[in-house]
Amino acid sequence: MAHDTIVILTGAGISAESGLGTFRDEGGLWAQHRIEDVATPEGFSRDPDLVHNFYNARRVQAAQATPNAAHDALARLERDHPGEVLIVTQNVDSLHEKAGSRNVLHMHGLLAGALCHTCDHRWTAPDNMAKSDPCPGCGAPATRPDVVWFGEIPYGMDQIYAALSKADLFVAIGTSGEVYPAAAFGQEARQAGAHTVELNLAPSSRVSDFAETHFGPATRIVPDWVARERAR
Ligand SMILES: [Zn+2]
Repeated sequence: MAHDTIVILTGAGISAESGLGTFRDEGGLWAQHRIEDVATPEGFSRDPDLVHNFYNARRVQAAQATPNAAHDALARLERDHPGEVLIVTQNVDSLHEKAGSRNVLHMHGLLAGALCHTCDHRWTAPDNMAKSDPCPGCGAPATRPDVVWFGEIPYGMDQIYAALSKADLFVAIGTSGEVYPAAAFGQEARQAGAHTVELNLAPSSRVSDFAETHFGPATRIVPDWVARERAR
């Protein structure tokens, strides 16, 4: 029987083959900075220029990146699936949207977004963002990247848990199945009766709670899984 409602969580592992690194990788943009300096509210308060320069560079890098076969496969699934497909992503790039996915929730925000510290107004980020940029909503010079930092609450949690509670299938891609949020989301979906699948580069150290696991590069295992799901 086909799965009607599908919730897919994606993490850094799906964007890695598009050349976008994370703070866990060696080399690249993250290697030049400490997480507490560029990815926390305290770091932003201490040195907003440093933080803006970091995100301005990441925004340029993300804008140049192109979706890979894994993003393309998920867009095809959403297009062809008769039921609902929701992608919840931890990634701040726009590669799912570039691939054609429409139902995407960015729980950690978007590099392409700007947020007013004062009034929470959101707008499209300029190429070069600075704290002194006036907010289009209230005029305050309190512009920050619309990215969720360590210590801040992810976006859309009510909507995510509502979707998980009626999911028939939950798939975690490119994010460790044994840590938050994949582990917690998987547990929620399982309690709702969903089948759970983990697609990851390598097995995690302990036994997965997911009912089904496949390991390998995202550009291979995601298209393979989508093909199987479409054939159900
Ligand atoms: Zn404002």
